[in-house]
Amino acid sequence: MTIPIRKFDAIIVGAGGAGLRAAIQLSEAGLKTAVLTKVFPTRSHTVAAQGGVAASLGNSEEDHWHWHMYDTVKGSDWLGDQDAIEFMCREANEVVVELEHYGMPFDRLDNGRIYQRPFGGHMSNFGEKPVRRSCAAADRTGHAMLHAMYQRNIKVNTQFFVEWMALDLIRDAEGEVLGVTAMDMETGEVAMFHAKATIFATGGAGRIYYSSTNAFINTGDGLGMAARAGIPLEDMEFWQFHPTGVAGAGVLITEGVRGEGGILRNSSGERFMERYAPNAKDLASRDVVSRAMVTEINEGRGCGPERDFVLLDITHLDPKTIMQRLPGIREIAIQFAGVDCIKDPIPVVPTCHYQMGGIPTNYLGQVVMPTSSGSQTNAPVPGFYAAGECACASVHGANRLGTNSLLDLLVFGKSAGASAVEYLKQAPRAHKPLPQEAIDRSLARLDRLNTQKDGASVHESRLAMQRAMQNHCGVFRFSDKLKQGVERIVDIERQIAATEIQDKSQVFNTARLEALELDNMIEVAKATMVSAEARKESRGAHVRDDAIDSAERPNGRDDKNWLKHSLWFKDGNGNRLEYKPVVMSPLTVETIELKTRAY
Ligand SMILES: Cc1cc2nc3c(=O)[nH]c(=O)nc-3n(C[C@H](O)[C@H](O)[C@H](O)COP(=O)(O)OP(=O)(O)OC[C@H]3O[C@@H](n4cnc5c(N)ncnc54)[C@H](O)[C@@H]3O)c2cc1C
Repeated sequence: MTIPIRKFDAIIVGAGGAGLRAAIQLSEAGLKTAVLTKVFPTRSHTVAAQGGVAASLGNSEEDHWHWHMYDTVKGSDWLGDQDAIEFMCREANEVVVELEHYGMPFDRLDNGRIYQRPFGGHMSNFGEKPVRRSCAAADRTGHAMLHAMYQRNIKVNTQFFVEWMALDLIRDAEGEVLGVTAMDMETGEVAMFHAKATIFATGGAGRIYYSSTNAFINTGDGLGMAARAGIPLEDMEFWQFHPTGVAGAGVLITEGVRGEGGILRNSSGERFMERYAPNAKDLASRDVVSRAMVTEINEGRGCGPERDFVLLDITHLDPKTIMQRLPGIREIAIQFAGVDCIKDPIPVVPTCHYQMGGIPTNYLGQVVMPTSSGSQTNAPVPGFYAAGECACASVHGANRLGTNSLLDLLVFGKSAGASAVEYLKQAPRAHKPLPQEAIDRSLARLDRLNTQKDGASVHESRLAMQRAMQNHCGVFRFSDKLKQGVERIVDIERQIAATEIQDKSQVFNTARLEALELDNMIEVAKATMVSAEARKESRGAHVRDDAIDSAERPNGRDDKNWLKHSLWFKDGNGNRLEYKPVVMSPLTVETIELKTRAY
């Protein structure tokens, strides 16, 4: 079948922080650049980021990128690649100052410098005591960031295709990426976006879980498209559960609240984090705090009639500080928890928040994959780049530190854009011919939706998947539940392959979009469950009941056998796992050696 073809030097799928930062790089270099997005750019999920972006500016107290690097390696439970982590922490000050020059309205200190607040796991002097490293615009940092970068893109003539949903990645027989097929969400028109370089910045997939801080659009489309095109997904077993989602609603209460002095309390009013993390207390790393909260609840010290949440208390703070630094949080507490946090504590529970894994990239933003099955050698996929939450550089390893994600999308959005510019400028080329069979395969997915009869409903299938993920692969993981989870997800996958959409008479409807998103979500869910079942240790956010805690395996972490990244491949209707080594050599400093992680 023929469809219209639109040609660009580069296309970027996603207009959140990562996509907008990459686009600035390409458009400023004079390349014809298109950005496709399911929602208006400034409504991308980055808008929800509250607490800030990490950079060791040292505006309030002494700080250093090497300390930030140490915290990030430790936070990652040593699964992060040390070359990429060094790169990110060294580049942080530059990308934050660039953002300031794009017009980002950061909060200020009295001396005019950017205001910085403490955040979980960020410490001074290689883990000594909390440090002020998060640069924030009140509790609306992501919102301010998107507006500053969108305006910059308008200035440099980036072309936006708003409410265009990318359907499939198109690769030719040599494995080169040549763009995507996409659908205009308003009219249902399908077109091919033909490019010499393609960047994925499609964000996270937190919606695969039942309770999530993520927006409805976070359906892992980039990961689904990559997996269907033969690209592996890295470290998908590692999902961050944010300690403070509003109980019953899942809406996020930023860690910045604890950075400003907020305290977690159990039913007897005890500040229980003093027992779990005597040094960092409420500002320990997120996985540590989430597990402590779940342990308090499981051991009967939760609050409320069902004893199923704990309390986040800021009633001791000056109301002026709350109104100035955390105005959005007060609004959220009133609307979603029915409490005014100036007077009463907020009921909170850990909620799915962030995917540490994703499309494998190096620190230049190039997508990389093994050269052959089982090979330890990685090579860039020609013409393909990824950045932001959909990518795995890997800087977060087994657990991300708060404020490192906005930093990740700035640093790697910029480097993915810069690498694409270099690729296009060094080897000027015409557009390669498009492989018709790859386009036909993509269109066949739409055809199936138009003709399927007597299938399961999209809504019910999605709910079944979300429940399976929540029950079988949550904050704590149990070997028998993981095994059952793999079987359950395979069943649900079969059901999803035959979902039926209602109202086929319409050229276009939202049920069709949801069905297309579900195709992507199930790939992410399967990659997560299979990778989690296979990893027989506890590390960072992945904590198993059967992992042995001993002198050689502190906290159940088994460096001898499991200091490696998982690579999950979709293989026809089946799947397979491979592993690759963690990069332990930084770029210029010495390796941060393995240690037990304690706060
Ligand atoms: C509530 C909340 C608060 C947070 N606070 C912080 C914080 O304070 N500091 C921090 O560092 N991190 C924070 N995070 C994490 C951080 O905000 C995200 O990881 C980050 O913003 C993701 O940015 P992104 O550019 O990768 O993706 P997003 O901002 O999610 O953008 C994804 C883009 O991809 C587009 N897209 C997706 N699929 C398709 C498709 N098929 N076709 C076309 N377009 C598509 C979307 O339309 C969107 O434009 C927070 C996360 C949440 C949920």
